[in-house]
Amino acid sequence: MSTEPTRPLADLSRLCVHTITTKPWPLEQAADAYGAAGVKGITVWRDALAGRNVAAAGERLKQQGLRIISLCRGGFFAHVDGAGRQAALDDNRRAIDEAAALGAPLVVLVCGAQPGQPLARSRAQIQRGIEALLPHAEQNDVRLAIEPLHPMYADSRSAINTLAQANDIALAVGSDMVGVAVDVYHVWWDPELESEIARAGRAGKLFAFHVCDWKTPTVDLLEDRGLPGEGCIDVRGIRASVERAGFNGFIEVEIFSKHYWAMDQEQFLSRIVEAYRTHV
Ligand code: ZN
Repeated sequence: MSTEPTRPLADLSRLCVHTITTKPWPLEQAADAYGAAGVKGITVWRDALAGRNVAAAGERLKQQGLRIISLCRGGFFAHVDGAGRQAALDDNRRAIDEAAALGAPLVVLVCGAQPGQPLARSRAQIQRGIEALLPHAEQNDVRLAIEPLHPMYADSRSAINTLAQANDIALAVGSDMVGVAVDVYHVWWDPELESEIARAGRAGKLFAFHVCDWKTPTVDLLEDRGLPGEGCIDVRGIRASVERAGFNGFIEVEIFSKHYWAMDQEQFLSRIVEAYRTHV
């Protein structure tokens, strides 16, 4: 891969990598490799904490010089029955506890959907679920980011499919603790994206920014994301939009890819850094 000569190499001071991106690595190995590669931030997926003392894991990350950006993920508020919704709230409170112990200031929410009920009902349950979590989030000083998901996941993963819907709920909840996460994979196609990013920025709701790319063809709707520059998403253009709207936080590389998980993860991490410098 070559860098573009007209553009200075982007520095890595805002580069964050999600542990799921290098899923074959245990958390400690990921932390060591990220630190050595010059990555400055880490977003931790809850599966990476399994069997660990969460507070000790957080200390280990900080010792490696990594800022902990967020914990992924909470959500899945929508259920056809009350017991399912209650179980989801209990699990979200545990996620907030884990974030607090880890030292993560933010929990990202994949909000959920159920094939057995209309999307509008799921959205109402999502809003009520977030409202029910607010006291616990405030007590622990952990913020919540609603991440809209691409509509191809509207059946079972999220009834929040546009940034407009995420903004609507964040604004309706009306708490400084609740904002949105903009993931280019989910929102790149949206003709209202620019105006909704601006709306989120005006309201102080731009909490997180996730990057990857959309490959053509995409052979797996969940686990075939590309590196920035490998697909059709205008990652730089969207980055410019979030920055115009006031976002200056970490830029998080979040890639689910069977293809990349199968390769040597050191080489993959080098490609992530290169792609970030060249295409983000
Ligand atoms: Zn994301």
